[in-house]
Amino acid sequence: MGRPSFPHCKWYRLSCMTSIRLSGIQKHYGLTRAVDGIDLVIEPGELFFLLGPSGCGKTTLLRMIAGFIDPTAGRIHFNEQDVTDSPPNRRNTGMVFQSYALWPHMTVAENVGYGLVLRKLPPAQREERIEEALEMVQMGGYCERKPNELSGGQQQRVALARALVIKPDVLLLDEPLSNLDAKLRLDMRTEIRRICKASGITTVYVTHDQDEALSMADRIAVLKEGTVRQLGPPRSLYRRPESRFVAEFLGETNFFQAQVVSSKGDTVKLETPAGTLSATSSGQNWAADARVTCSIRPEAFQQVSKPGKNNVFSGTISEQIFLGDQAQHLVEIGGEIVRTLHLNPGDEVGEGTVHLHVDPSDVVLLSD
Ligand code: ADP
Repeated sequence: MGRPSFPHCKWYRLSCMTSIRLSGIQKHYGLTRAVDGIDLVIEPGELFFLLGPSGCGKTTLLRMIAGFIDPTAGRIHFNEQDVTDSPPNRRNTGMVFQSYALWPHMTVAENVGYGLVLRKLPPAQREERIEEALEMVQMGGYCERKPNELSGGQQQRVALARALVIKPDVLLLDEPLSNLDAKLRLDMRTEIRRICKASGITTVYVTHDQDEALSMADRIAVLKEGTVRQLGPPRSLYRRPESRFVAEFLGETNFFQAQVVSSKGDTVKLETPAGTLSATSSGQNWAADARVTCSIRPEAFQQVSKPGKNNVFSGTISEQIFLGDQAQHLVEIGGEIVRTLHLNPGDEVGEGTVHLHVDPSDVVLLSD
């Protein structure tokens, strides 16, 4: 199917240039610090993700942006307007929930148009807006269906149309794909990103699924225990995590304890239980003898035919896990078990010594 065009997107774009500024936001429930001091600026038109494990405070933060929960401290601005004390219906946000929350007795068109009835829009304008919103989510021909006559993915599209139809300044999505099966989830990732970018609406998306965040976001804030641990575009978070928590939460990795031997320019030489290792430092100075943790992703290891002097480790494969498109190997190197990943695997690799090279730019130094 080709990419559809969206003739109506211009008015969305014109109406939606909203930045969100969170300053010192806290929400405490008794001794529980659900959100514990968050400062963030979300740019106009950005698809911004709040990512973190269950209980890290992402839903609480989203609901404070929507106005359903009052912060214990801090201010929320939409552009220059302080909305901290405004009720939800005064913030012009559209919200999509995990559970779709469609009304079963109403048709698709009635569900989508409900917000416009509340806003007392005349029927002719209502009809036009409903049609535009349903076109946008590619559900144009489904106006008269009831929710129980739609698949899960279609229901989620209708929920999205219902949020878009009011021309929100800010779109808030709370784990919108959790109830869909795996294949549909993948399709809807592309679809939601396309709709958000085409409409130009500033969007905040909550998820605990790192693949969803990496594949869709302009920027991600990784949360733990109510605070932002790292903020950035997907590639820089994945390739340059600053802590063990972020390195581990965004995909698989191997950690090595190491000691700094020398640090010159952007090259850091390290001593590890598996041998010496060069790393590219990203601007940080590391003192000689400092103890650090290195993070090396499984896919950063390349099998080479010979042992060499620069960043080649020799070890033995202790386990091979075949996963179809890829195989994982557990390799014992200097008493450590290292996980490596190989795309398009052929036959099992025979027993014996393997040699693995890692590029210095793939070795990330962490201070925790
Ligand atoms: P997440 O969305 O990341 O799973 P939440 O924002 O739902 O996390 O919750 C963050 C923390 O705040 C959790 O420890 C949760 O138990 C607590 N919490 C959330 N809502 C309430 C509430 N209404 N009363 C008391 N504690 C709450």
